Amino acid sequence: MFWDEKVETLPKRELERLQLKRLKKTFLQVQNVEFYREKLKAARIRPSDIRTLDDIQKIPFTRKQDLRDGYPFGFFAVPLQQVVRIHTTSGTTGKPTVVGYTRKDLETWANLIARNMTMVGLSDCDVFQNMVNYGMFTGGLGFHYGAEKIGMTVIPSATGNTRRQIEMIQDFGVTAIHCTPSYAMHLAEVAEEMDARLESLTTGLFGAEPWSGSMRTELEKKLGVTAFDSYGISELFGPGVAFECPERNGLHIWHDCYLVEIINPATGEVLGDGERGELVVTPLVKEAMPLLRYRTGDITMRFEDDCLCGRAKKVSRITGRSDDMLVIRGINVFPSQIEHVLLKIPEVGNQFMVYVDRINHLDEMTIDVEINRDYFSGELQDLARIQKKVVKELRDTLELRTTVKLVEPGSLPRFEGKAKRVIDRRGEI
Ligand SMILES: [Zn+2]
Repeated sequence: MFWDEKVETLPKRELERLQLKRLKKTFLQVQNVEFYREKLKAARIRPSDIRTLDDIQKIPFTRKQDLRDGYPFGFFAVPLQQVVRIHTTSGTTGKPTVVGYTRKDLETWANLIARNMTMVGLSDCDVFQNMVNYGMFTGGLGFHYGAEKIGMTVIPSATGNTRRQIEMIQDFGVTAIHCTPSYAMHLAEVAEEMDARLESLTTGLFGAEPWSGSMRTELEKKLGVTAFDSYGISELFGPGVAFECPERNGLHIWHDCYLVEIINPATGEVLGDGERGELVVTPLVKEAMPLLRYRTGDITMRFEDDCLCGRAKKVSRITGRSDDMLVIRGINVFPSQIEHVLLKIPEVGNQFMVYVDRINHLDEMTIDVEINRDYFSGELQDLARIQKKVVKELRDTLELRTTVKLVEPGSLPRFEGKAKRVIDRRGEI
């Protein structure tokens, strides 16, 4: 199941040669952008300094704020005449970020989506309902053109009117859907209310927000699909940057198009395979808006081995944002790591709160977690045992000593929107 087998399975040496060639070209392209001309000049880096892939580490990072400062067209490397489409990323604060595409960029993007969809087994025999926003958001048109490229029968249903969406799935014999995981959950609930069976569905592509393994199980059960995780970022075309293959234990990022680094978000140091950190991407084939070392803010790690499906190294599913990272006694801690540890301990629930204090100049982390009555005898002794177990499991993963407080089930706050589980009191007097 390959869209472009030769490129998708390039041997390591050939792949690296291609990456280097494209990196050099990208380096020249960015000279058309004032921001890069000045930045590279200040850093005293010339095109001749890029001799190996590792030389990329000499180049300064590009941040989201840089793109915002370039609003609207400051990062375009081609004249506006050659830009055939514009998307923007949602700007929660201030102006959005503008992304431009040349005709060739749109072609490249559609091909990348086609690779992803083919990889999970979709073909021109499938009927595809694209239930995401078709406006400035890249998810709608991005998937639309990729699916058409494969020859799928595409239903651009966009968002809203869930009952109508369900009728279309039934009437048109839809086999594959694309939406956010939370909308998929809503769809499943409405289908249940309508007593509607969605028998034709086989495949669900879910992305644009993080979702857990238990949500996957739930969605697969309720919708009768195999669910695949899709990762995208508008500054790098949009959806389709990385995608799960049928192995579903990590995402393939297209190494011929994206040069991947994982860095320590606090220090900028480049990390090795198997180390968790912030994903930094240098797109290698973009025309309208080439970028160097773009800091995505997303936390992941690169696997050491190639995948059984024949494609190269994967990255893990995104486990958080670098803005969520805590530095405790010099060690990076992500709330998602704590969640992961707690999920594996049946004696406690998965709700937790983290408090960070500075006591006698030392960082102290206290974690409140709810006890699970089904696994608790009620004896004080048992309480001590569970507490010890949680402390040990956390220490093994975080490499950090923590204080664990067990609390009554249901006593910790529940969050409807974005959870705020960390209270950092180190700045307080
Ligand atoms: Zn694979």
